[in-house]
Amino acid sequence: MSDDPRVIRLIMDLRKYGIPEPILSVIERIPRALFVDEPFAHAAWDNSALPIACGQTISQPLIVAYAAWKLELAPGMRVLEIGTGSGYQAAVLSPLCRRVYTIERHRPLLSLAQARFKALKLDNIVSRHADGLEGWPGQAPFDRILLSAAVGEVPVNLIEQLKPGGRLIAPVGPVPKSDVFAPKISFSQHLTQIIRRENGIERTTLIPVMFVPMVAGLPDARSSDDVERKR
Ligand code: SAH
Repeated sequence: MSDDPRVIRLIMDLRKYGIPEPILSVIERIPRALFVDEPFAHAAWDNSALPIACGQTISQPLIVAYAAWKLELAPGMRVLEIGTGSGYQAAVLSPLCRRVYTIERHRPLLSLAQARFKALKLDNIVSRHADGLEGWPGQAPFDRILLSAAVGEVPVNLIEQLKPGGRLIAPVGPVPKSDVFAPKISFSQHLTQIIRRENGIERTTLIPVMFVPMVAGLPDARSSDDVERKR
């Protein structure tokens, strides 16, 4: 166990929510400070979401751990994550499965995340700059799919990229169309689990959450990437 009191406090907090030990040990090992911007480094071990570039957020450790838990990962699995952001969620999934495929629409965020994966030698993470709403047809089907941004409804084409018996987790609920001011908007979503069965899907509503919205298409020079450059 780490002897950093901030790490111990976070792990004890997550344990109270029932997060299993193998996931706690991954949370303890992945240095979250590497995934946040310098001004927020002091808060890296807090159990809270924090702002990152391009108006996005790094998810709260509890939600990252909870999603990793509910995905019920096994060592041989191939997992698709949509919404790389800081790369923290992908880094937490990485030791728990065979390969993580992660997609991000903001190029500056993806570049930072890729440098972090390299620094931590997380060699089983493959990432790409694309619209994740299309999934990753060239690598489908996946054992698991995790949406790290909120959707009004889970797109059917993503469910189709699951293996039979495969599982998808997504924050589902009302979302604004643009992500530019999204972190300032409060809306109610639920983490939702979908299992692909032979004869349809099995759907379970998990916990209430608040994620930035999934936005279709890539940002153009005049929109969010531009906002990022002006900061
Ligand atoms: N898992 C991330 C959470 C980042 S927030 C982390 O641990 O830090 C959600 C991310 O989803 C944002 O970076 C946002 O740009 C991205 N996103 C939103 N819509 C997307 C889309 N259609 N395709 C790919 N990424 C998208």
